[in-house]
Amino acid sequence: MIIAIDGPAASGKGTLARKLAAHFGLPHLDTGLLYRATAYALLDLGARLDDEDQAVAAARGLALADFDEEKLRGADMGEAASVVAAQPAVRAALLDVQRSFAKRPAGAVLDGRDIGTVICPDADVKIFVTANSETRANRRAIELARRGEDVDYASVLADIRKRDERDSHRSTAPLTIAPDAVVLDTSELGIEAAFAAALKIAQSQKTKSSTPC
Ligand code: C5P
Repeated sequence: MIIAIDGPAASGKGTLARKLAAHFGLPHLDTGLLYRATAYALLDLGARLDDEDQAVAAARGLALADFDEEKLRGADMGEAASVVAAQPAVRAALLDVQRSFAKRPAGAVLDGRDIGTVICPDADVKIFVTANSETRANRRAIELARRGEDVDYASVLADIRKRDERDSHRSTAPLTIAPDAVVLDTSELGIEAAFAAALKIAQSQKTKSSTPC
């Protein structure tokens, strides 16, 4: 079974994807980490984020097992990842690794921006997780503060809105709701209530036939 979870930054999609993966005993891939790691590699080299050749080389050189999530989860890396992710050649370079992950024998849970639309258009379950931008900024500010980052709610909100705008309006694989996805708005939901809703959606959708993406 392939479960595709898409949605904007801090919508809760990562938490729900992890919980669904644990519930169904499936491997999980947070595809945002691929773009974050590509951006990190570029900055580490002293290269520009819009240097397409270097970005493609960095994307091709990624090793999933070596990701240092602690370094990649910062707010600055989210913004840098969004700039890198707007480049069609970078997206193309990261296509195979995501599709191979999805084709694991038992299936997989992938979360990102284009899983249900581009990476796994035939996923058995598609959920588009969203929440209003103020709620998402609040959640992200709490998460960043826990990481020890200096946070200012207004700038977190501005960053989230800027990233939404860029992710939704880029030419390739913009953030959109797949026509067959079920939308789950988590604005008013705590983690357990959101998970219960996501599980209900997954159980009702998974009866669809399993087709590899
Ligand atoms: O989900 P996360 O915030 O870690 O993603 C960082 C950035 O990576 C997003 O803002 C988006 O630009 C990009 N991304 C993407 N497609 C995905 C996953 C992430 O474009 N499937």
